[in-house]
Amino acid sequence: MIMSDLHVPFFRPSITDDEIGEVVKCMKSGWLTTGPNAIEFEKEFEALYDDGIHAIAVNSATAALHLGLEAMGISEGDEVIVPTLTFTATAEVVRYLGANPIFVDIDRETFGIDLDAIRAAITPKTKAIMPVHFAGRACDMTALRALADEHGLKILDDAAHALPTHHNGKLIGDIGADATAFSFYANKTMTTGEGGMLVTRNADIAARARVMRMHGIDRDVFNRFTDTKASWMYDVVAPGFKYNLTDIAAAMGRVQLRKIGDFQAARERLVKRYKSAFADLPVTLPADAADGDTHSWHLFIIQINGDAAMDRNELVAHLKKNNIGCSVHYRPLHQMTLWSIGNGGNKFPNADAYFEGCISLPLFMDMSDTEQDRVIDVVSKALLG
Ligand SMILES: *Cc1c(COP(=O)(O)O)cnc(C)c1O
Repeated sequence: MIMSDLHVPFFRPSITDDEIGEVVKCMKSGWLTTGPNAIEFEKEFEALYDDGIHAIAVNSATAALHLGLEAMGISEGDEVIVPTLTFTATAEVVRYLGANPIFVDIDRETFGIDLDAIRAAITPKTKAIMPVHFAGRACDMTALRALADEHGLKILDDAAHALPTHHNGKLIGDIGADATAFSFYANKTMTTGEGGMLVTRNADIAARARVMRMHGIDRDVFNRFTDTKASWMYDVVAPGFKYNLTDIAAAMGRVQLRKIGDFQAARERLVKRYKSAFADLPVTLPADAADGDTHSWHLFIIQINGDAAMDRNELVAHLKKNNIGCSVHYRPLHQMTLWSIGNGGNKFPNADAYFEGCISLPLFMDMSDTEQDRVIDVVSKALLG
């Protein structure tokens, strides 16, 4: 194959015979929905942390975010502070509960939520803050916790990009937040196809989320069929949701979970290669983790400077022509039709400036050096002109 024919996808999940074998075993077992695999998956997730943490497996991070806010008591008319630079799911779950997402700008260097902007956005109606560990770089959860405590606010962090991300030596999920949502969507740092996990040290939040995950029923389905009590002897205590994770997905997740450290190391190695290859390009490279933190490197995002030979949209088109996948994370929410309504007058200069030049380049666990060299070659020649 000649070099220029090499197709490099934006992302390719890392699936081996181990995941396939466990999924097949589950399918042959006769138990497909939430059951022994989901229960073990939760226990294994809890084992990433010190004792006393609760992990609640669900069918998406969106579900985990919704359950987290619901369990915190967010309701009609409340305000929840959300960075404008995130996926729409972070904001939409606030709306599910009749509350209002209040958008704030990002920090120009870390792409994380800006603390001064949060301070300026707090009103008597504010109930919670939803930081996003953007691209996998930890927000300053220590400062966020202090700010939240000052104002009696809850923190639900969107950790869809952040497995494994550490802050001050602790894995995200048990540092500074009241609850945390992880995603196992197909292109995240580990995957179950679709899936998510709500993590919390708060027993009340955990108990409420477990009930609401499953129609407001006070016992899990699996227990219903294994307990000695009649399976129909359950009670319904709230109008809950249908957010449980299948055992097929959990079987895959259990194998992926064992590899998150290796996955992170593989991505970090590739990021170092990208960074040294791009050191002299007219681009702004993404910030490394703060001292003592780990960056999951879910995404590798460069911002194209004004003096480059191509702008962002031209580079996207050029990469496509060269058979290289890429993406843009994200068009800020305040620029979207839905979310612009009611945000009139508010300005988000950092997110707007970021969006002008940002492009996410291919980065995945099994990316070969040959694939990466192809990306480096095409991007370098394009931007230097
Ligand atoms: C992927 C993603 C989500 C949603 O995750 P799902 O598991 O697809 O629901 C939420 N927030 C951010 C920042 C994401 O990247």
